Amino acid sequence: MASRVPLVAGNWKMNFNHLEATYFVQKLVWLLRDAHFDYRRCEIALMPSFTSIRSVQVLVEADDLKIRYGAQSVSVTTQGAFTGDVSADMLAALGCTYVIVGHSERRKYHPEDDANIVDQVRAVLAAGMRPILCVGESYEERRQGIELDFAVGQVHDVTRDLSRDQAAKLIIAYEPVWAIGTGMVATPDSAQDAARAIREDLATTFDETVADAVRILYGGSVTSKNAVELIGEPDVDGFLIGGAALDADELATIARLT
Ligand code: PEP
Repeated sequence: MASRVPLVAGNWKMNFNHLEATYFVQKLVWLLRDAHFDYRRCEIALMPSFTSIRSVQVLVEADDLKIRYGAQSVSVTTQGAFTGDVSADMLAALGCTYVIVGHSERRKYHPEDDANIVDQVRAVLAAGMRPILCVGESYEERRQGIELDFAVGQVHDVTRDLSRDQAAKLIIAYEPVWAIGTGMVATPDSAQDAARAIREDLATTFDETVADAVRILYGGSVTSKNAVELIGEPDVDGFLIGGAALDADELATIARLT
């Protein structure tokens, strides 16, 4: 691996109110302190619901904590009459580092098409944060044997509209849809094949420097039981974690193993 610091990002989805989020962060930080966790070796980020971000921020700032945090989605507009939306500037003002963009659940349950996803990426970057762009095939694409083309195509649909500097700030999460929340994890070989194909595409679209800079995470039923094998792959730079990120002990263990 190049000099990419691994990232372990917890996607809490629609779980934890702000009190539960506060308790979770306190417990996680205590566990990591107890384990003498080195945050320079592996970055940890939490992606709470919008309603919990401020509580996480207060904890992080008050105690000078090293964990980072972000949001699970963002509006493509900057302000105005968009009831229910949250802008990138609002998230940046809360100290967010990351925003998940294009998660398969957002693509499925909300009208988030390619154009909207590109606009979200741009909005996140313009506000000085980093998008975690989610891509990955469904079971059907895998059955047809087109999973690599599909995932690379989803990346390409976004990167073709970005400048080189913008692309270098991306984090990409390869998350096969069939593996999300199912207990079915991609094999290390398969995660590596996808991560390498995505990195090769970045090198072709931009150059080796961009391809080397972008962290590519694996997501889909990651636990402390399968994390070690997956992170052993040269192009896998960490994880985007759903279910296992709801358990502080499990998340701390995965971070230690990463
Ligand atoms: C996710 O939703 O991003 C995810 C990877 O979920 P899980 O870890 O539960 O499969």
